[in-house]
Amino acid sequence: MKIGFIGLGNMGSPMAANLAAAGHEVIGFDPAGVRAEGVGTAQSAAEAIKGADVALTMLPSGTILRDVATDIIPAMDPGAVFIDCSTVEVDTARDLAEVCGAAGLFSLDAPVSGGTAGATSGTLTFMVGGPEQAFEKARPLLEIMGARAIHCGPAGAGQAAKICNNMILGATMIATCEAFALADKLGLEQQAMFDVVSTSSGSSWSMNTYCPAPGVGPASPADNGYEPGFAADLMLKDLRLALGAAERVDAAVPLGRAARDLYARFIDEGGTGRDFSAMLPYLRAAGFSPI
Ligand code: NAD
Repeated sequence: MKIGFIGLGNMGSPMAANLAAAGHEVIGFDPAGVRAEGVGTAQSAAEAIKGADVALTMLPSGTILRDVATDIIPAMDPGAVFIDCSTVEVDTARDLAEVCGAAGLFSLDAPVSGGTAGATSGTLTFMVGGPEQAFEKARPLLEIMGARAIHCGPAGAGQAAKICNNMILGATMIATCEAFALADKLGLEQQAMFDVVSTSSGSSWSMNTYCPAPGVGPASPADNGYEPGFAADLMLKDLRLALGAAERVDAAVPLGRAARDLYARFIDEGGTGRDFSAMLPYLRAAGFSPI
């Protein structure tokens, strides 16, 4: 297929390179420069998607996605597929689907989990919203860039799945970190804490796979000075999206709100650029008084 790939940052660059390595013709555009192996260079987003079967976007925000969409939709051939893999507002995904539909294009919101490691190794999970027919057209490409693609429902369902998952992750990571900090102050060895919780009802992905305590459990950013991994800033972005969506549909998200507020504070107080599991040393340094 001929693919126009817009947004070649930490995630987009390896994703585009994997598509090219699988034999697709990939033309990329990024104002910061194209640096993906096997990927051709265009001078604009509209040039990158000219004559393409598929336009793929991997951008920082919904506002930027809307701008890029305004540029490229009129330049896309009818019947082409617009796949957005960025993490953006559910409403942005739905609006984009409507505009694409009116222009005779197929569209999917297909945010990912798996981070830069998953993007590089082609093992991302795609959470996909949009029509079944578009999903089937996109599936071969998603299977190159990822290990799993789950069709979640109509437009916006992929973004909804992504923010719900990451709201659970944010809250679970904080709960895991505060329990480690408490365990420490109670004189409980970190290894014992891990051995018990990882095999008990307190277990979770945060504990078992991405343990925030250094030196115990599988290798994780905690063992590498809390270099991301998944940066706290990105977690805050996703929690803000979750809170925005919850407000719009009047959903109760007390732990999501607490997680957002705590990550905002952590980032203000020096956590920016650190892995989101660095919440552990932050909490360890704090006392009982609410922070
Ligand atoms: P990034 O900042 O590394 O990359 C974004 C790229 O978009 C940059 O290279 C930037 O130059 C480019 N860009 C900005 N404006 C543009 C425009 N108008 N046209 C074309 N390109 C433009 O971000 P990332 O880490 O690659 O994340 C991309 C998306 O994936 C985000 O929505 C993020 O929330 C999501 N995501 C990231 C991770 C992760 O671990 N990094 C994990 C899951 C999801």
